[in-house]
Amino acid sequence: MLPVQQLALNIPKVNKPRVVVVGSGFGGLNVVKYLPDSRFQVVLFDKHNYHTFQPLLYQVATAGLQADAIAGPLRSQFRKKKDFEFRMLKVQSVNPALHTISTLAGDLEYDYLVIANGAKSNYFGDQKMEQLALPLKSIPDALDLRSQLMQLFEWASINKDESIKDHILNIVLIGGGPTGVEMAGALAELKKYVLPKDYPRLDFSHMCIYLLEGMDRLLPPMSPQASARAKKDLEKLGVEIKLGAMVQSYDGETVTLKNGEQLKSFTVVWTAGVTGDVLPGLPPEWAEKGRLLTDENCRVKGSSNIFAIGDIAIMKSEATPKGHPGLAQPAMQMGKYLGKNLYALHSNQSVKPFKYFDKGSLATIGRGKAVADLPGKLHFGGLLAWWIWLFVHIGFLISFRNKMLVFTNWLWNFFTFDKGNRLIIRPYIRKNDVKTEKVFELNATEHA
Ligand SMILES: Cc1cc2nc3c(=O)[nH]c(=O)nc-3n(C[C@H](O)[C@H](O)[C@H](O)COP(=O)(O)OP(=O)(O)OC[C@H]3O[C@@H](n4cnc5c(N)ncnc54)[C@H](O)[C@@H]3O)c2cc1C
Repeated sequence: MLPVQQLALNIPKVNKPRVVVVGSGFGGLNVVKYLPDSRFQVVLFDKHNYHTFQPLLYQVATAGLQADAIAGPLRSQFRKKKDFEFRMLKVQSVNPALHTISTLAGDLEYDYLVIANGAKSNYFGDQKMEQLALPLKSIPDALDLRSQLMQLFEWASINKDESIKDHILNIVLIGGGPTGVEMAGALAELKKYVLPKDYPRLDFSHMCIYLLEGMDRLLPPMSPQASARAKKDLEKLGVEIKLGAMVQSYDGETVTLKNGEQLKSFTVVWTAGVTGDVLPGLPPEWAEKGRLLTDENCRVKGSSNIFAIGDIAIMKSEATPKGHPGLAQPAMQMGKYLGKNLYALHSNQSVKPFKYFDKGSLATIGRGKAVADLPGKLHFGGLLAWWIWLFVHIGFLISFRNKMLVFTNWLWNFFTFDKGNRLIIRPYIRKNDVKTEKVFELNATEHA
């Protein structure tokens, strides 16, 4: 690593207003795509050098897809743009008074700043949960989870103490939203079709997949019909669903619910909530519940040249008193809207307010099983919903290469009833966890 003093951003100054974009998720990617390079210099920052297609992270975590099938390299994506710069750096803070952002490699002045840094997992202040549960927000998270699962099966297969087998094999998913539901379905299929063939000496009746939801139905943002169908399909696959289940604590071995019930598991996946990640330096009054308040042009309220889009933004209007849902579509549509309109805003022309077009929601449960809520109060489940889910996801992947990789992996999985990515490439070792260290010791010493 170079010493910090030797780092520099190396961004040339050109004769155009500079737009700095923070984050290359669905929002950031679209804003850069639609910003005219003849009018602006665009500088994109992200912690990673790729765009992550978050809706398919659970398939990486459950060995259905390889990680690079859902990641698109940013430099090649925008290779043809003039006056475009990408820097793989975390933006550490913003100084709205000086119009600068700060990074490890130095500060950079902006004429316009677009904040599209998304959301982070919300543990509601439970530090133990944050330390011990596995999140699913990024590709490294998904690879950690995949390693953890595969390590546990390996460990169970060489463990002679029958009494702790269920403990090792049980998996607890906290949060019955789309991610929890999709993850539960994928794990149940792994258990049904793949694991017994890989581990013929292991008795998978010991393995229980628990899905916990605090509310009285799964998929709370979707229709009651979708919730009921998801519950029925998951139960058929053998998932144990607990509704109205509020989690009290997790100590690395046991999840305790508020009603006193205890579930033994070394593997807890946290999908129960997200919160915005407001960059340091922005005045707290610009934010509400961790999201930046914007007007209907995506401009942060209180600022003249800072915009926010996607999960980090809360655009309240009569039609959207709570802002837009934290989904890919609002982020993509806001990105496209701002990219197309920033020059008009810069030239003080009047611009129509942003209007979200709700294309509906989909969640998959397993082979041939999904639920769909489409515009016009159209709710259905089963094979048709699953086909729609497949094609929508392939359609929105970033590049032709990603589409082909996902499509061929899915074909393979479908026809062979297999999931070909059950690899422990980088072992997962839970940090600072003396109690369960023995579980991970095996792989840790092997790779020391
Ligand atoms: C597991 C999972 C499953 C999901 N499934 C669905 C689904 O099925 N359908 C759906 O519509 N939505 C789904 N979502 C939600 C959807 O992915 C988000 O709403 C969407 O990604 C938001 O886009 P965004 O651009 O606001 O942020 P993100 O896509 O989260 O992108 C934020 C980007 O900012 C970068 N970043 C963050 N902080 C910094 C910083 N300080 N400096 C530099 N870069 C930074 C990150 O690396 C990231 O690339 C899912 C989300 C998750 C986590």
